[in-house]
Amino acid sequence: MSSDETSKARRMATLTGLATSRGFAAGSVFLHTTDGGELAVVEREISAADVSAELERFAAAMKEARRQIEALTARLDGQSAANVFANHLAILEDPLILSQIEDVVRKERVNVEAAIRRVVERFRTRFGQMDDPYLRERIRDIEDIERRMLRILLGREETVFASITSPVIIVADDLAPSETVALSRELVLGIATDHGSATSHVALLSRALGIPAVVGLGDVTQRVRPGDRVLLDGSNGTVTVNPDAATTADFKRLMRREKELMALLEEDRQLPGAMKDGTPLKIVANTQPGVPFGTLAAFGAQGVGLYRTEYLWLGSDHEPSEEEQFAAYSEAVKAVLPALGSEARVTFRCLDLGGDKLMRGVKSFEANPFLGNRSIRWLLGHRETFRTQLRAILRASAFGKTAVMFPMIATRAELRQCNVELGKAMDELRAKGIAFDEHIMRGAMVETPAAAICADQLAGEVDFFSVGTNDLVQYTLAADRGNEQVAYLSYPSDPAVVRLVETTCRLSKAGGIYTCVCGESAADPVMAILWVGLGVKVLSMAPSCIPAVKKVLRTVTLQEAQTLAAEVLAACATDSAEEIYARCRNFLLDRLPDFESLRAFFAAG
Ligand code: PEP
Ligand code: MG
Repeated sequence: MSSDETSKARRMATLTGLATSRGFAAGSVFLHTTDGGELAVVEREISAADVSAELERFAAAMKEARRQIEALTARLDGQSAANVFANHLAILEDPLILSQIEDVVRKERVNVEAAIRRVVERFRTRFGQMDDPYLRERIRDIEDIERRMLRILLGREETVFASITSPVIIVADDLAPSETVALSRELVLGIATDHGSATSHVALLSRALGIPAVVGLGDVTQRVRPGDRVLLDGSNGTVTVNPDAATTADFKRLMRREKELMALLEEDRQLPGAMKDGTPLKIVANTQPGVPFGTLAAFGAQGVGLYRTEYLWLGSDHEPSEEEQFAAYSEAVKAVLPALGSEARVTFRCLDLGGDKLMRGVKSFEANPFLGNRSIRWLLGHRETFRTQLRAILRASAFGKTAVMFPMIATRAELRQCNVELGKAMDELRAKGIAFDEHIMRGAMVETPAAAICADQLAGEVDFFSVGTNDLVQYTLAADRGNEQVAYLSYPSDPAVVRLVETTCRLSKAGGIYTCVCGESAADPVMAILWVGLGVKVLSMAPSCIPAVKKVLRTVTLQEAQTLAAEVLAACATDSAEEIYARCRNFLLDRLPDFESLRAFFAAG
């Protein structure tokens, strides 16, 4: 790394991404890549004037790679191991490879990281087609060198979270749910990622854990080095790298202001959810195994509207047994309910694996996992796992009010099969004389357009609906919730989504059941007001968002929210997602003069 490049990387820069978990964090960088293999490389065009500096970076990285390989060789005994590294040195200095990389930098005018990627890709294609397994294997050595060079050029270390011993800000290309759930709240001050959208799992988890986060930053991993100082603003979605003294002082002022605003919301925390005219509304929490239950009562949750059971699987390297599940679920019921009052209930959502939620070390082989065998589809194909989970949830229901909820429902046939399995699980427990709540509530998640459109068919099968707007938005707009490139399409205020929520509410009411929203949009007061106006009775969200949502709901009567909803429905014929959002936001601004200052507490979006 030339000193020129080093100083360039250390200049102050502010990057903007998607604000996904509010709060501020100041600390030093811990760099992480998705897996030990592929390092994310951003291709950059360079000018003719930059070519020689780029080649210098290449030469400096080569020198460092040679030093590392020689140091490794010196630590090894045994000739065959040393030979491996002798091979690596030979590849590193192979004039053919070197000249190809230099040529790409000179002629195709891209940064050296991209040039290395391109050249290795050519070798990969060529070697991969060869019949000789020995030659095919040589590509592994080339890839190993590629990783070493890229790590040096990008300033990466081979790190794992377990090695974190003092508080840091994690900067990663992306974090898998199983990685995120392993993070320690004490040691992780904030999270910044290249990829991700407001409803990606890294966003949900960081919010659930109360860790400030900004995702979808594009190339933040390329802009920082381990140990760099970073200011992360999870409310406005910015990350400032290597801030100067004045910026740091301003940021500290913002951190103090947040504390003051928190105090402002204090009185709303413990009040029950209600509107200005006294209409009661249930404001409950989203949670999962591993998140301390104390935060639920502290933020004034009136129950748990979504307990994401899959995190028992994601945080584990084996399938949790019935006893392990029972221990976790009953602990939640016993710990949560007494603290949240006699009306509180814990809603356990059945295993929602698949899509981007995969167990540690498991890879999906489906071409299109989000549209594939995920969630309830997978459970219905794995009846033993399904019934084991249902028995564990039922057993926990003996300790207090609970509900069981089925995810990703698309058809009534699926929901009926879920009920059949629930009935069988009950029979199995009865046969053994094990106690459970015979009247446990049943819910269906409305996360597919099919479920919303045919909600009348589903209403007869369950006691409530819970709209998962995160998935409903992704499936309605056909826009992957984890892909920042299509985040511009992913608005719960999209007219198509608004119409689907309205349909769900209307059909649930006609069917004599109620509707909850447990997607991230429930945590945004702007959207919460619209959902309530459309007929939603329960809002479930990350605990830290509860006080602000309660405060805002108390400023509006049900009648006013319904008037707004009627206006929005009419506007769905003409307005865009942004226009509908602005309409709801202006409605709130008129009623809550300090809405802007409160905005820092609201969910991003
Ligand atoms: C949703 O899709 O809105 C939801 C709450 O489920 P998850 O985010 O866990 O997919
Ligand atoms: Mg979902």
